[in-house]
Amino acid sequence: MKAILSCSECSTTYRADEPRWRCACGGLLDVEFEPAFSPKRLAGRSYNLWRYREALPVEKDRNIVSFGEGCTPLLEVAFGSRSALIKQDQLFTSGSYKDRGTTVLLSKIKELGVKKILEDSSGNAGCSIAAYSAKAGIDCAIYVPASASPSKLAQIEAYGARLHRINGSREDTAAAALKAAEKTYYASHCWNPFFFHGTKTFAYEVCEQLNWKAPDTVVLPVGNGTLVIGAHIGFSELLHAGIIKKMPRIIGVQVSACEPVATAFREHLQRIPVADKKPSLAEGIATAAPVRGRQILDCILDTGGELLSVSENEIKAAFREMARSGYFIELTSAAVVAGLKIYLRRAGQKEKVVSLFTGSGLKTADKISAL
Ligand SMILES: *Cc1c(COP(=O)(O)O)cnc(C)c1O
Ligand SMILES: [Zn+2]
Repeated sequence: MKAILSCSECSTTYRADEPRWRCACGGLLDVEFEPAFSPKRLAGRSYNLWRYREALPVEKDRNIVSFGEGCTPLLEVAFGSRSALIKQDQLFTSGSYKDRGTTVLLSKIKELGVKKILEDSSGNAGCSIAAYSAKAGIDCAIYVPASASPSKLAQIEAYGARLHRINGSREDTAAAALKAAEKTYYASHCWNPFFFHGTKTFAYEVCEQLNWKAPDTVVLPVGNGTLVIGAHIGFSELLHAGIIKKMPRIIGVQVSACEPVATAFREHLQRIPVADKKPSLAEGIATAAPVRGRQILDCILDTGGELLSVSENEIKAAFREMARSGYFIELTSAAVVAGLKIYLRRAGQKEKVVSLFTGSGLKTADKISAL
């Protein structure tokens, strides 16, 4: 089946071969697409995420923009008497799991013939989009809050992207980007639905690494929810194809300093409130108004999952514990580990729990030395 775009608000559909990232009504678009993927086809294929080729909605191989990303190790990491399996997604080329989404999105953008794009980010998505734009020869502008980590800004500029520093919050930055996106194609990891068909490869890889069995539970960050939405798409596709037998429960982790989706979960709210955001060490998930907030919550509820929040002290403790075990991850990534530790205390004895390290500590060494 050819991919089509469909509006989550008014159900209007669009062809996927026109450069459109939002419905005419302003609503969020999703990619509708039935992959013709089977594990039987994998023999002899390279060990990168493009091995799931039939599941990735890019038509022509020649448009693929790739650094051979994906197939990160799935390692058992001990937490006291318990353990979890952790994907080493801090190893991606730009230093975070965002490259999963970006390789698919930039390939689609190349296929569309778009020559100029923009993105806004607290840092890592900007680094990732800038890296793949450099490889594809696409002109790229990245909007960031002036307060983002200096090392992430240096990385974005080093790739040759034009950096727009916005004085104000992450939300002000998003507003500035949305304005600019009236004229330029918006390669947004929040709005653009192709991104999630890259992050879904997290689910494909985990299941392949478990011999095509689904784990019981996955613990994922919730900032803009690109992994939650992606994992939900990926596991659903595998379930519908009969490749796995059950849907894992998705546990979402937010920070207490900024927990809009966790608040809606606890208080059974229909609408996701805008969080009253306090400063957090975990800059990458402190999203006050996630564009797809309701969709994130629906994905989690659909699997019988839940949301939990972690404190700043729990983030620091998780960071130190991981570093002392040889894993140097960024503080946003440590927030997910803090949530995983809370979850493991009440997980069943035989429960197979999978999570990931989302980003490298080398990204924010400055913040870490100030701890
Ligand atoms: C983007 C990011 C997150 C949060 O992921 P969302 O998809 O926004 O929920 C977590 N950790 C790191 C390192 C990130 O870059
Ligand atoms: Zn619409």
